[in-house]
Amino acid sequence: MKINRNKIVIVGAGLVGSSTAFSLVTQGICDEVMIIDINKSKAHGEVMDLCHCVEYLNRNIKVSEGDYSDCGDADIVVITAGAPPKSGQTRLDTLELSANIVKTIVEPIMETGFDGIFLIVSNPVDVIAHYVYKLSGLPKNQVIGTGTAMDSARLKYFIGDLVHIDPRSVHAYTMGEHGDSQMCPWSSVTVGGKKFIDILEDNREFDNVNLDEIVQRVTRVGFDILEVKGTTCYGIATTVAGISKAILNDENKIIPVSTLLEGEFGETDVFCGVPVILNRSGAKDVVEVHMTPEEKEKFKKSLGVIREYTKRLF
Ligand code: NAD
Repeated sequence: MKINRNKIVIVGAGLVGSSTAFSLVTQGICDEVMIIDINKSKAHGEVMDLCHCVEYLNRNIKVSEGDYSDCGDADIVVITAGAPPKSGQTRLDTLELSANIVKTIVEPIMETGFDGIFLIVSNPVDVIAHYVYKLSGLPKNQVIGTGTAMDSARLKYFIGDLVHIDPRSVHAYTMGEHGDSQMCPWSSVTVGGKKFIDILEDNREFDNVNLDEIVQRVTRVGFDILEVKGTTCYGIATTVAGISKAILNDENKIIPVSTLLEGEFGETDVFCGVPVILNRSGAKDVVEVHMTPEEKEKFKKSLGVIREYTKRLF
């Protein structure tokens, strides 16, 4: 008999890793959360604190600290080790640091026979996810970056706020790089089934809405938060929890994560944020949303940025 334990390992117990653990535990998304950090006392502290949540939760979730040798039976390994960009830096500026760190993480994990899903959060997430794909040798469906999942949640929030609708009734994605070059295929955005561009045209109160400015707000807001509190954590933590839930519960939910393109949108050999069907197999399929020629051009340009940085690693 085999009872699946739904075990998630989080590597990196910093602000993003610990908030992710809190989100997984309080939402009861898995049976077991294990935390690993090079700073063992930090991991120990987070684990002790989280264990004391159990009395007031809906279910008893096992929270423990561990080592890479404990990853062999994990369903998902979330990598958040790294450091947020410093003031004035972009996510791409943290490439070398993150690449060096993930190398020391992926190799010992693969030695355990790990055959689950790597979920990469460390930035620049598209390039690092590609690097983990190469280092691990796992099939492409088993290596996923958080991509533009967080950015798309922000986009939905801004659109919802503008038209006074619950963001969850908005269907919208940003795509491409989780970074300054990401774009939005506005021609595919709908609110309650109605095209967003038609909503803007039909209502004079939206005459001054500038779509490029909305995308700029999405790309800048992470840095606005960074300026005032040093990092962003709750949004990304909830995003990781949502992606993990879609995978473990075999939901077939569509979330824009970073995956390897192999011909979709006419592109190959690049990890980038695109809508993906997520289920127990990981990244099952890419949804090729409609894009106008102008949108395709912006998307291609964003992939060019990712490719340029990916080339620095291999
Ligand atoms: P942080 O500095 O608070 O935490 C990083 C943690 O990683 C620290 O606890 C550190 O000890 C640990 N660490 C460093 N090297 C390690 C190693 N070799 N093995 C194990 N642990 C190691 O940083 P943070 O704010 O939690 O951000 C972490 C990463 O997440 C950054 O790369 C950041 O840019 C990224 N991030 C991504 C998104 C996204 O949307 N993808 C959003 C926010 C943050």
